[in-house]
Amino acid sequence: MEENNKKKLTYVLYTFIIFALFTILVWLGHFSAFQDFITKIEQGSFDLRQTILSKYKKPNKDIVILSVDDATYEYIMDKYGSWPISRKIWSDTIEFIEKAQPKSIIMDLLFVKANLNDIESDKALVETVEKNDNVFLSMNFDNYSDEIRKSPEINDKFKLKIKDGYLEDNPYITFINARTAMPELMDAAKNIGIINVTRDKDGIIRNATPIFKYKNEYYPNLSLLAAMKYLNADSLSIVNNNIILDKKHSIPLDTTQRTILNWYGKSNTYTHIPLWEVIKAQKENNLAFINENFKNKIIYVGTTATSLSDIKSVPVESNMSGVELHATFFNNILDNNFIKKSSLEVDFLISIILCLVVGYLVLKTENVAKTFFFLFSTLILYSIFTLILMQTFNIWVTIIFPFITTITTFILIYCEKYLLKSKDYEQTYKLAVTDGLTQIYNHRYFQEQMIININNYNRYGQVFSIIIMDIDFFKKFNDTYGHQSGDCVLKQVAAILKKNSRTSDVVCRYGGEEMTIILTNTNKKDAEITANKICQAVRNNKFTLANGEKVNVTISVGVATVGENGNTPQEIIEYSDKCLYKAKETGRNRVVAQI
Ligand code: GH3
Ligand code: MG
Ligand code: MG
Repeated sequence: MEENNKKKLTYVLYTFIIFALFTILVWLGHFSAFQDFITKIEQGSFDLRQTILSKYKKPNKDIVILSVDDATYEYIMDKYGSWPISRKIWSDTIEFIEKAQPKSIIMDLLFVKANLNDIESDKALVETVEKNDNVFLSMNFDNYSDEIRKSPEINDKFKLKIKDGYLEDNPYITFINARTAMPELMDAAKNIGIINVTRDKDGIIRNATPIFKYKNEYYPNLSLLAAMKYLNADSLSIVNNNIILDKKHSIPLDTTQRTILNWYGKSNTYTHIPLWEVIKAQKENNLAFINENFKNKIIYVGTTATSLSDIKSVPVESNMSGVELHATFFNNILDNNFIKKSSLEVDFLISIILCLVVGYLVLKTENVAKTFFFLFSTLILYSIFTLILMQTFNIWVTIIFPFITTITTFILIYCEKYLLKSKDYEQTYKLAVTDGLTQIYNHRYFQEQMIININNYNRYGQVFSIIIMDIDFFKKFNDTYGHQSGDCVLKQVAAILKKNSRTSDVVCRYGGEEMTIILTNTNKKDAEITANKICQAVRNNKFTLANGEKVNVTISVGVATVGENGNTPQEIIEYSDKCLYKAKETGRNRVVAQI
């Protein structure tokens, strides 16, 4: 029963510890430094999961990247002697590729200002863009003040049509200024999308912004626009934080109304075709080349050259070109393959479950190595579980918060368990050395202490004495008053012995109705004084019997001192025994210290 109560108490204690822990963590969560720390590691764990899982994902083979790479930079400088690339080259390239009838040509490039030295080239590009419906241009939003750049009005044709729902303003999606393409291109273009990206605090890009707000109108991300055209969706709706393109395609939004991208692997998961090869093919009118590479393809055009610095950090790669990032977003839309973060409630629940599991295992397991094994297995199994969730359901459940709570719970419960254990041990030891009837030390403890005291005497010269006493005519006493009354007397004698000795003295029941006291740091003379004091105290005491009757009892006492009367426990005990015998012989109710 007592054991059961103790167990219950322990469980209550553990539950309390777990909840206290959560409260502390939630409280700590109010400190942004702590939050940043947790976020940083959590994002790291996301990146790791993405890196592992990207090996098992297949990017869309219809997406190709027409790349302005380092070789192209050299090629252009070599052949044309100027940079940036003349817009005539772009217009020629687009016209040439169009011969292969690609699905779309998506320009992740900004054609901002008119090139006054080369108006003819600008015109050629405008004509090309006007002529081809499948060409997509891009622009940027920012928050420049009107003093730096007057915020332009944007043609209605580029506004995003939203049938249902709306987005709240927030700094990730709402902007007050725009860097558009040059006015002639804005007039000519059919499709213009936004190419802004946002980085997390650690500089890594994990999200994409599908829809932007500018002057209270919505504008599509370049890839969203391209995907809408690809899927023949000319408008969309926003329902329960999801952008619905059609029955099969939707984009989940997080609390910032952005979406979390799912990565297909490092750079070059999409086929890259360097621009210089296309320019060369065009000069040679090599139609086979463009048919092979661009027929029915979705072509993303952008810089991949490290020297041109349109290079980003993403979860799976520290250097990835912006154009690949946009392609990944497009690919995610087609595959309906975005990451959804689990809610705070779910994360909390997971943490509690893990804490309870680990707490239970720690409680149940005696073996230390096994306890640690269980902790690590639980954490590893949970990590694998999070990987499976991400692989199968695209769900990002938090790892770090449960890890912290679980490990802390483990440590706390572990310490608590060993604290309780040591208390248990103390209790058991006390029971093992105490006499049940008189509550003084037992014979075993007496022997232990004798050895310790002898050692101290031998090492440090600490003198000690022992008193051994025996109740007089106790057999008769039992016969007269009964065994129960005999027990009462034994208890009371023990109490008198304790009362009349110092805390450093060791009072023991030697056996039967014989008791001993080890008097530490006590010579013969002082031991004899104590013995007499005790003998007198017993003599003067009225002992209460089981029936309440009061009687007198006497004891006989022998005394022995280390050195003088012996050098081993046996010798000293034997000497004191002989003294006791002499006390009995010479009339009882007395102390004998010499034989
Ligand atoms: P003496 O004065 O010579 O010591 O006479 P005595 O009758 O006391 O003789 P002895 O010491 O040999 O007697 C021991 C008796 O103590 C035997 C037993 O009846 C009694 N006794 C021993 N242990 C207990 C106990 O735990 N409870 C009770 N009630 N009696 C005990
Ligand atoms: Mg006896
Ligand atoms: Mg006796």
